Amino acid sequence: MEDNIFAKIGRGDITVETIYEDAHVIAFRDVNPQAPVHALVIPKKPVENVLALTPADRELAGAVLLAAAEVARRLGVAETGVRIVFNAGADAGQSVPHLHAHVLGGRKLAWPPG
Ligand code: 5GP
Repeated sequence: MEDNIFAKIGRGDITVETIYEDAHVIAFRDVNPQAPVHALVIPKKPVENVLALTPADRELAGAVLLAAAEVARRLGVAETGVRIVFNAGADAGQSVPHLHAHVLGGRKLAWPPG
């Protein structure tokens, strides 16, 4: 699990152009954007997905949400609206087994999602 691309970014083995970073998280743009704004927020610590969080991760989980909101502000979509998505597991289409929040905006997003 700790060999995936986001685990490597999280521990600094691969550098990315960061939108936001603090002690807990790093945020950067998605390589295959699904909207005009599409960023990812990952914890530095390896956690597979939201289902793997424990009560000990309370601060980290909060940091991910606060960072997602800050990313929305920094990328100029806080006023127009934003969708923050956590895919967890196969049916949700999670392709990288390291927790990540998608921050999507910059266009009208359909609901329900596909
Ligand atoms: P998931 O499908 O697991 O919820 O989302 C994984 C996301 O990571 C996808 O949107 C995909 O485009 C993005 N992604 C995969 N590999 C890389 C990478 O090496 N760099 C960046 N910036 N995004 C990536």
